[in-house]
Amino acid sequence: MSLPFRTTFKRMSLEERARIAGHKGSATSGRRRTPKKAMKVRILEAQRGLCLYCDMEIGSQITRDGKPVTLRINWDHFIPYSYLAHNPADNWVAACHV
Ligand SMILES: [Zn+2]
Repeated sequence: MSLPFRTTFKRMSLEERARIAGHKGSATSGRRRTPKKAMKVRILEAQRGLCLYCDMEIGSQITRDGKPVTLRINWDHFIPYSYLAHNPADNWVAACHV
């Protein structure tokens, strides 16, 4: 399975991605919601369980500051305009919390 917007996304630099999606330093607003369970499953399948930004497997272990850390899932509200045109309602992506 492939996501058209993901391919486009891949060609952007990390900086661009972060700016567009607000991955880093997104001051979490209190109104943040998460997608429905069925949608989460679908998104994870589409992303093959990988973080959209860094391609690391969600749930896998990394080492940070010398300590093992498990990557937790973080649901980002992401609105790429090309993607939005096809899926007006579904604009969630799975990202790690790091
Ligand atoms: Zn990540």
